[in-house]
Order: sequence, then C-alpha cells, then structure tokens
Amino acid sequence: MRFIRDIHAGKEAAGKPTISFEFFPFKTPEGEETFFGKTLPALMTAGPDYASVTYGAGGSTREKTLEIVERIQNDFGLTTMAHLTCIRHTRAEIGGILDEAANRGIQNILALRGDAPPGENWAQTEGGFEFASELVTHLRERGGFGIGVAGFPEGHIDCTEGRDADWRHLVGKINHGADLVITQMFFDNADYFRLADYLKGQDVAAPLFPGIIPVASAAQIKKFSAMCGATLPEKFASRLDELGDDAEAVREYGIEYATGQCRELLERGAPGLHFYTLNKSKSVLRILDNLGMA
Ligand code: FAD
Repeated sequence: MRFIRDIHAGKEAAGKPTISFEFFPFKTPEGEETFFGKTLPALMTAGPDYASVTYGAGGSTREKTLEIVERIQNDFGLTTMAHLTCIRHTRAEIGGILDEAANRGIQNILALRGDAPPGENWAQTEGGFEFASELVTHLRERGGFGIGVAGFPEGHIDCTEGRDADWRHLVGKINHGADLVITQMFFDNADYFRLADYLKGQDVAAPLFPGIIPVASAAQIKKFSAMCGATLPEKFASRLDELGDDAEAVREYGIEYATGQCRELLERGAPGLHFYTLNKSKSVLRILDNLGMA
C-alpha cells in the first residue's frame, strides 16, 4: 500500500481530483456481509483513490478499525487510512496500536483527538495526549506513516477562543508534520473557501480535502450537524423541512445539493472530494455520475 500524499501527488500531476470514501465499523455480522459483499464492490466501480475507516467514539473500535482497513487493502487493493483518536489511550497504548497497524500493512493514519462521550467533557487521559498535534508529532517521530488531520471550516465546536484560534491550531497540527487535511462536513462552500484561503495565506501546502455528506434523512443530518457544529444554510434547512418524511425526496435533494457543492468545489480548485458514505453506495455513486466521474 502507499502513502496517500504520494497517491494525491500523482493525481495532481495528472490534473485529476483525489476521491476518497469514509466508512465506519459495522455493528453486526450482517452489516459486515453487506459492506464487503455489496457496498464496497459497488463503490469500487467508481475507482476511488483511497478510503478511510473511523475509530469508534471514545476509542471503542480499535480491533475492528484495523481489521477492516487491512481487509479493504488486502481484498480490494485500495489504500486505506485508519482513524486513530487520543481519547482513553496512554502514549504506550497508542504505540501498541501503531505497532499493530504497521504489522497489518497500514501506512496511513488520520490523527485525531476524539470526543468525550455524550454528556461528559473532554479530559486528557493520564499519560496520553491532550491534542491531536501531539499524536502527529508522535507519528512523525516514529516514522513509517502518512498522516492526516481534521480541519473545521466553521471552526471546531469546542474552541472557546473562536474560529480563527481553531484555524491557528490547525496550522500548528500541519506544521507538526501532517500531510493532508480532511474537513468536517459543511453545507456552505464559502466556509471551505475561507479556510482554504486562510491556509494559503499561512503558506500551508498540505491539501485540504472537503468532506461531503450526501443527506439521506433530514432528522439524521440535523442531529449530526448539531453534534459537530456544522451550520445548515437556511434555504437548505427549509427545503428539508418542506420535504418532511418523504425519504426518497430527501435523498434526491441530498444528491442534487451535494452534486452542486462538489461541482463548485472542484471548479474553484479543491484538490479532491472525501465522501462521508455512511456505509452506503447509491447517493455517492449518483453524485460521482452527475460529475462525470463514476
Ligand atoms: P484537536 O486538533 O486536538 O483540536 C481539539 C480542540 O482543541 C479544538 O477546539 C482546537 O481548536 C483545540 N486546540 C488544538 N490545539 C490546541 C492548543 N495547542 N491549545 C489550545 N487549544 C487547542 N472522532 C472519532 O471519535 N473517531 C473518528 O474516527 C473521527 N473521525 C473524524 C474524521 C474527520 C475528517 C473529522 C473532521 C472529525 C473526526 N472525528 C472523529 C471527530 C474529532 O475527533 C472531534 O471533532 C474532536 O473533537 C476534535 O478532533 P481534532 O483531531 O480536530 O482535535
């Protein structure tokens, strides 16, 4: 498998965007069967450049995340990045996880802080890392891994000093040695372009991959956006309200909206697209088809 930075450099040299898909560990054997038997084979027809697999909230899916990444790489030949969060891990445990990742042939890590479980405040684990930037440093010192980090076009929800302070922290993370940034979902491209311009102004060369979520359900997207502090533009939210419980119409609108977002992002210089697939293939494939990329 390869470093994602090298895959991206190849795509950039060819004048093509880097396309990636994010998955989460399934909860049941049936979920696993559907994912490996249907969802992933369908998504592979779009020729993705890499995939990534999340690490369960509160550091809960260590084995599963690594297992899934290894299987995607071995069975589908697709370079895959394992997400790794600092929460509830000591430095020594992180070292053990990285040993295991390396043994499984994993070469790319998305270095994250993680969130406290609902109702609790974030607290640094004794002997662990406080911020993702420390995990980036650890990875860089250790060597052998390509490193991604998270970026927040609207600023991170916990950053009490505000958006600009959060963006400064992002620059810090990149300067500690990250190769690339994947953004949190956003629904107003202006937020992405503001962050992209800010990073350019700071002479940051790491690519900023926009995180795109095709809306599948109005209730779900309202919950997700409230949890992570992503704003739903008024027009977008009121259209979802109008469509109400008509799941099919919401899905169609989600495809149309995300297609428009992706088109503008690519036209105005985004280096690629990172899709939050929610372990589903249809909407993502339709969006890529609309863009002439499936
Ligand atoms: P950090 O970069 O450490 O930032 C956390 C907060 O601390 C921010 O408010 C930041 O502004 C502030 N901060 C940073 N450095 C400093 C400093 N030096 N001084 C003061 N304040 C500072 N969560 C999961 O549990 N599992 C996943 O797999 C997962 N995948 C994700 C993938 C993407 C693309 C994104 C965008 C998020 C993902 N998350 C995941 C959520 C993420 O863990 C949370 O948003 C978390 O709260 C922040 O993580 P971070 O890595 O950005 O943290």
